[in-house]
Amino acid sequence: MRFGGYDCATVVMDSFSLDGGAMFGVVPKNMWEKMIPADSENRIPMTSRSLVIQGGGRVILVDTGIGDKLPEKFKKIYGIAVSAHSMDERLAPVGLSAADITDVILTHLHFDHAGGSTTLAGGKVTPAFPNATYYVQNSQWELARHPSLRDRSSYIPDNFLPLLEHKVLRLLDGPVTDFFEGIDLIVTNGHTTGQQHPLISGPDQPLFFCADLIPTSAHLPIPWHMAYDNYPIDIMDEKAVLLNRAVNENWMLCFGHDPVTPAASVRKDGRKAVMDKAVFL
Ligand SMILES: [Zn+2]
Repeated sequence: MRFGGYDCATVVMDSFSLDGGAMFGVVPKNMWEKMIPADSENRIPMTSRSLVIQGGGRVILVDTGIGDKLPEKFKKIYGIAVSAHSMDERLAPVGLSAADITDVILTHLHFDHAGGSTTLAGGKVTPAFPNATYYVQNSQWELARHPSLRDRSSYIPDNFLPLLEHKVLRLLDGPVTDFFEGIDLIVTNGHTTGQQHPLISGPDQPLFFCADLIPTSAHLPIPWHMAYDNYPIDIMDEKAVLLNRAVNENWMLCFGHDPVTPAASVRKDGRKAVMDKAVFL
């Protein structure tokens, strides 16, 4: 689908499951399970969905999924279903291979967003996209290097340290207008410090990659946010501001973790932003 000067498509990198209670924070189960039903272990289905943006001589990948380096024990905890055995296989549905990617925008470095950034080859962990430059916010990088007890398990050094060692990492300080022509980077801090979101402008409809600000379409109501969010009041303020823009400027929202809906436009229903039309990007 075309947004501005770019062809955009989503790619499901992995499927997994997370505790439904953790995914909806203080929202009671009898409310959230109407939106996404839980399994016998109270987990809900999730995807790690990436966005591919092609145009102006660039092939940009936003987030890289869980990847293929996790031990079996970890895979069992998160119900990770391996749908493909290599990054090339994952990108095949959009007609690309890992070598085609010129740029990787990592929204943040949690393992379900950055795990596919590196791969194990010949006993060494190396960048999974041999021709790409990777972009991360500096404040997120610092947090990942020195995580708190609360988010230590989300940061696996093998997912991101090799990017520094191979000199393919570029750290950014705050939001950027026209990072690539017609693509802004918006920064939020409520889920984690220094999460960045591409906004691709278009004459009719811009496309915004929500990442963990609004992980699924069920997280559109402002108080419906995850127990994983580090700063709950901040994320609610950020959602209010950005959802207001989304309605007023007719944004299409891309949801990284929604098991059913890759993207949707939103409209106002009273004071709330609600899903208007689901789109299969
Ligand atoms: Zn996250």
